[in-house]
Amino acid sequence: MEKFQIEPFYVMQVLERAKELEKRGREVIHLEIGEPDLPVPERVKRKAAELLTETELKYTPATGIPKLKEAIAEFYYSRYRVVVEPEQVVVTPGSSPGLVAALKTVSRLVGEISFTDPGYPCYKNTLKVLGEEGVALPVGPENSFKVRPFQVNTPALIVNSPANPTGAVYTKRELEKLSKRAFLISDEIYHGLTYGEEAPSALEVTRNCIVVNGFSKFFLMTGWRVGWLIVPPEMVEPINAILQNTVIAPPTLSQLAAVECFSEEVLSELQENVKVFRKRKEILLNGLKEIGFKVPVEPKGAFYIWADASPFTEDSFKFAFELLERTSVAVTPGRDFGYNGTEKFVRFSFCTETEKILEALERLYSYLR
Ligand code: PMP
Repeated sequence: MEKFQIEPFYVMQVLERAKELEKRGREVIHLEIGEPDLPVPERVKRKAAELLTETELKYTPATGIPKLKEAIAEFYYSRYRVVVEPEQVVVTPGSSPGLVAALKTVSRLVGEISFTDPGYPCYKNTLKVLGEEGVALPVGPENSFKVRPFQVNTPALIVNSPANPTGAVYTKRELEKLSKRAFLISDEIYHGLTYGEEAPSALEVTRNCIVVNGFSKFFLMTGWRVGWLIVPPEMVEPINAILQNTVIAPPTLSQLAAVECFSEEVLSELQENVKVFRKRKEILLNGLKEIGFKVPVEPKGAFYIWADASPFTEDSFKFAFELLERTSVAVTPGRDFGYNGTEKFVRFSFCTETEKILEALERLYSYLR
């Protein structure tokens, strides 16, 4: 039998060990998890509670309920000034299945897909699940961990801006140049979470792209499992067919409640959270530098710091476990994000409250200095 192995998330091993330690009474500070800790807006929760008693929650169309598709399409006009037809909006159970459908469709209709290393591991792993190859493009601090047009020699490219794990944000001009080299699959899941310039959408520079987004980051609704794609009209049908066959439909209750996210009230409440993340980022960034971590490029978005741990280790995978054992601070080893220099790096997430971040910094300082 042919060997078929998809890489696991190495961070899960860290998390497992952290849970063991917690069971024994240790107070672990979690800086490894990429899940926003802030509460889901009340209005969304209230709506869901109401709906639970009022509706039967049957299947919806595979590409989502019209009301949510319309709200998302309108959001693209109010936010980015781009016209998106509701028919181009495909609602998915979290953005991940959307990504699967997009990667398969683009592989077949457009051709081979490149992605960055370091980068979000699911791109490489999902392509492998789908039996597609993909090409890893090394990115480094010399270009703020962003891919340059001359590197792209495939018909399609995944851009992730703001990026996980580096926090890189592409400018409109950069996206425009990349869109001239390749069909873009633009993972915009961290849009809204930026600490300087807003991240432009690929749709602002080209119609020849698929945008991937969802309610898991800025909207804080990880477990509700709702995401969306914006796809060119000719790709709606093939993507719809993949989703009909693989997920049937996104969760009905979550879709109905997610409509509330686009109310003025909820959007401005969520906007306030960006200040919270920004403050945490400053504290964590300054603290890590003081301890001796090198941060070659400061994050411009998302909620991670990609830190070079080479002053302390040559093997950041072992180092992540060492930190956990000795300081009870959990971080994600660089290995989760590819092979390009990642053994030197760890990812710190600031999805935890300021007091805990400060406590983690103190523990790291005492152990490493
Ligand atoms: N893209 C990126 C870059 C991510 O970091 C994540 C979540 N970790 C996702 C997509 C998927 O999120 P979800 O399926 O919850 O929408």
